[in-house]
Amino acid sequence: MDKDLLSQKIKITGQQLGFDMVGISKAEFLEEEAPRLEAWLENGQHGKMQYMENHFDKRLDPRKLVDGAKSVISVIHNYFPETSYQQPEGAPKISTYAWGEDYHKVLKQKLYRLYEMIGEEVGELPAGRVFVDSAPVMDKAWARKAGLGWIGKHTNLISPQRGSFFFIGEIILDLELTYDGPIKDYCGTCTRCIDACPTDALTPYQIDSNKCISYLTIELKSSMDKAFGDQLEGWAYGCDICQEVCPWNKFAKPHSGEEFKPLDHILDFGPREWEELDERQFKKLKRRSAMNRVKWEKMKSNLKMIFR
Ligand code: SF4
Ligand code: SF4
Repeated sequence: MDKDLLSQKIKITGQQLGFDMVGISKAEFLEEEAPRLEAWLENGQHGKMQYMENHFDKRLDPRKLVDGAKSVISVIHNYFPETSYQQPEGAPKISTYAWGEDYHKVLKQKLYRLYEMIGEEVGELPAGRVFVDSAPVMDKAWARKAGLGWIGKHTNLISPQRGSFFFIGEIILDLELTYDGPIKDYCGTCTRCIDACPTDALTPYQIDSNKCISYLTIELKSSMDKAFGDQLEGWAYGCDICQEVCPWNKFAKPHSGEEFKPLDHILDFGPREWEELDERQFKKLKRRSAMNRVKWEKMKSNLKMIFR
């Protein structure tokens, strides 16, 4: 099949599978991102996320992840909930991405279906791999290159039509396709995210993970410094403040799928349920949701910071 036609078909099928947008870029060295990543690591702004230092070359070049890779197909999947869904008053705040089913599983299933469809169209499955937060892939950089949005001053991808509450996934594959290009940066003179960040973790287009509540409550495996405890503004797992204040999120539309509908721990857990949460209950809720990045000890210490 002609590559223009196939690229078009990939986008249509991706949308039929429930992805909001699909874009394609050439698999090549991430020239622009390389010096920024290097400086960020050198300045220690990745905190204790040791894994960010590993596979430096692979992170910047998808051909080192998939032999002979020619294309990166990027997808975004909206998880913005209906406004009627809210956590009960006073409950420790959980980042919206962790309200529903574990996105790794949901997105991977859909990406594998898209990958199979490509195999059917070309007659054999081209060499490739599917990624959802699972390997050293700079997903925001690839989505930007594929024209799905720009990377805002809060370092998240923003779609002019959809805001920034979405998951990102990729298929890296050994198949030449038709490539999209990046779009303009529409942040302009706005600094709302930087001004709203309670821990001063942001400078334009740069995040210091050491100060970010998402890092402190999820990625940092030990308990956070008590000084940060006063700045959490109620967040016990992740933080959405810089996205909530971004004017582009007025374009966010609630998703229509069942997968990311809020689970019981969001709708039914009030402050009392969270305060009395025990290891057994936490393990149960972790099984389905994307809150699986933290162990019970860490969650317990986050909750302690909120309820002290
Ligand atoms: S997620 Fe929260 S703490 Fe982290 S940069 Fe955004 S506003 Fe600041
Ligand atoms: S809040 Fe303003 S500066 Fe920050 S990402 Fe959104 S548009 Fe850009």
